[in-house]
Amino acid sequence: MKSDHKHVFVFAEQRDGILQPVAIELLGKARELADALQEEVYALLVGERVEPLAPECIARGADKVLVAEAPELATYTTEPYTQVLYRIVSEREPSIVLFGATTIGRDLAPRLSARLATGLTADCTALDVSPDGDLLMTRPAFGGNLMATILCKEHRPQMSTVRPGVARPHPRDPHRQGAVERVDARLDPSKFKVKVLQTLREEKTRVDIAAARVLVSGGRGMGNPSALNAIEELATALGGEVSSSRAVVDAGLLPRERQVGQTGKTVRPDIYIAAGISGAIQHLAGMEESGYIIAINKDKYAPIFQVADLGIVGDAARIVPLLAAKIRALRETKQ
Ligand SMILES: Cc1cc2nc3c(=O)[nH]c(=O)nc-3n(C[C@H](O)[C@H](O)[C@H](O)COP(=O)(O)OP(=O)(O)OC[C@H]3O[C@@H](n4cnc5c(N)ncnc54)[C@H](O)[C@@H]3O)c2cc1C
Repeated sequence: MKSDHKHVFVFAEQRDGILQPVAIELLGKARELADALQEEVYALLVGERVEPLAPECIARGADKVLVAEAPELATYTTEPYTQVLYRIVSEREPSIVLFGATTIGRDLAPRLSARLATGLTADCTALDVSPDGDLLMTRPAFGGNLMATILCKEHRPQMSTVRPGVARPHPRDPHRQGAVERVDARLDPSKFKVKVLQTLREEKTRVDIAAARVLVSGGRGMGNPSALNAIEELATALGGEVSSSRAVVDAGLLPRERQVGQTGKTVRPDIYIAAGISGAIQHLAGMEESGYIIAINKDKYAPIFQVADLGIVGDAARIVPLLAAKIRALRETKQ
């Protein structure tokens, strides 16, 4: 039912007391949507001892922050978080609820939408408001071959997950004013099915590609260990990170977390170097918003050149090591 649902809610995802970048991005997007609708932005902060994050939510665009704290919410599990959000959303009746398309958002949003008997559009790449005030949720469809704009006209709230890196965060405004309200975080433990016994963290020695300023990305044209070494050398020379197309990940040469694209990560570095990548639409979907795109491909008709700011036609296996050596030499002369 649509009734009088109002306001844009953002699940302000935090982990270990750190507000996730996607939450900050979504607060900025929510601000734009709420301004268009002349409504307010609410940040939903759920966890244990998370209230200190409220000022940051306000500085990033929230008018109100609803804080739900309980020891059972310290580590994310589906049922307790769903219970808390279900109570908040069904009592407050927002018009829109946004989640990051993170592992947590992708688990929580569908569960909540099912409980609320409303729709959910996953992995949106753009959000806007129609002249009627409906949320326009755009995402790739049919294997990424077209973009579909989806509406949820008959039900409220309108729910969507948005991939990290898609929305631009609004600049921090420490002077913004907002209200913080603690909400009921009562839980029904009899429904809990999962108990966290231990958390084992994977050693992460590298920067997340979604946060990297410079990315050197290898495709099937560089899909062998020695060519990928050259990619690694160029990334190191530039102080950047290595990423890749899906072809390289499918070949088992790099882990999935390095994949850029529709089923990988959305990246927006200042510089993106694509070596031996054809530029399939599913790859472009993850990188075309990069600041400056350099493509190296031996096929001058490769679609990657259509989004490139600088194109080099030639053998990437030869060009990439030359570039790495040149940049290293330049750096040494500067020191
Ligand atoms: C539902 C779906 C989701 C997908 N999601 C993703 C995704 O998230 N990310 C993604 O990347 N793909 C994704 N794909 C796959 C995508 O369609 C392409 O198959 C993939 O991106 C191709 O990778 P590539 O460019 O490395 O390889 P190819 O398309 O095979 O291109 C290799 C390129 O390298 C060039 N080349 C070869 N040798 C050299 C050389 N020595 N020097 C210079 N250039 C050379 C060739 O000219 C060619 O252009 C998805 C597909 C589907 C259907």
